[in-house]
Amino acid sequence: MPKVTYVNGRYLPHGQAVVHVEDRGFQFADGVYEVIAVANGTIVDEEAHLDRFDRSLSELRLDWPVYRRALGFIMREIIRRNTVRHGSIYLQATRGSAPRNHPFPDFSLPSLIVTAKSAKKLSYEAALEKNSVISQPDIRWRRCDIKSVSLLPNVLLKQAAVEADAAESWLIDDRGIVTEGTASNAWIVTDQDELITRHLDSSILAGITRQAILKLISQEGISFLEREFTLEEAKQAKEAFFTSTTALVKPAVKIDEVIIGDGQPGPLTRKILTYYMDYMDNIGGQ
Ligand code: PMP
Repeated sequence: MPKVTYVNGRYLPHGQAVVHVEDRGFQFADGVYEVIAVANGTIVDEEAHLDRFDRSLSELRLDWPVYRRALGFIMREIIRRNTVRHGSIYLQATRGSAPRNHPFPDFSLPSLIVTAKSAKKLSYEAALEKNSVISQPDIRWRRCDIKSVSLLPNVLLKQAAVEADAAESWLIDDRGIVTEGTASNAWIVTDQDELITRHLDSSILAGITRQAILKLISQEGISFLEREFTLEEAKQAKEAFFTSTTALVKPAVKIDEVIIGDGQPGPLTRKILTYYMDYMDNIGGQ
């Protein structure tokens, strides 16, 4: 649990960190967020996360609640005050509080909260833990490229996974295409050895882990395709995995009732996890 949380200009004991009942984030999910990893005391892919935050803010026509450089300072201060060496930062900005009414208020000050919490540094073996995924209809809105705090479909779909003893739900659109996970991007390796992840558009979030991995594997000379793939293709794949800031690279060895490959994390999944863990280690030194 965080000890200290930043709320609208103040660093408060976590238990006292509150926002107003009329905050539009609370009443309308009128806000955006980021989850950023901390490795060896360093913020991982900070600029990429802040670029995505900037884009999400502008899609909601929200101003930055503080200058970008000030947010960098606040994040470092929150890491320091919570003594986080490995873990994550959560930041959220909303349109602030105003009497409840759907249109944008004439005047409101954006809210900003920043928290950080520690997590155990994962060993390679722990990170490679096998997982099942289930397929679920993608019932979300059509702007999944915005990292909005409106996460009710994701919550319900993730709960469906938990109740099915699975780690993630892969979301399927009306054409039988896998869009992404509830909180991760989806990847497969086909029986023709093609590494595939869905191309970016408004149906998925542009994952920062996805972006970092595409860069790392390009440097290693591993080819990939960014294109749609169906649930059927995924079930026939040799390997499947999903990526996110907190999950890193997670093998999916079962999709619904179908075992993927030989039911073990595949060679390319392992390789990509190694590259990504090395990358995180090198970011902040040992
Ligand atoms: N898709 C969704 C819907 C997510 O919530 C997340 C996690 N933020 C991701 C993909 C992966 O994004 P990232 O790699 O930036 O954590």
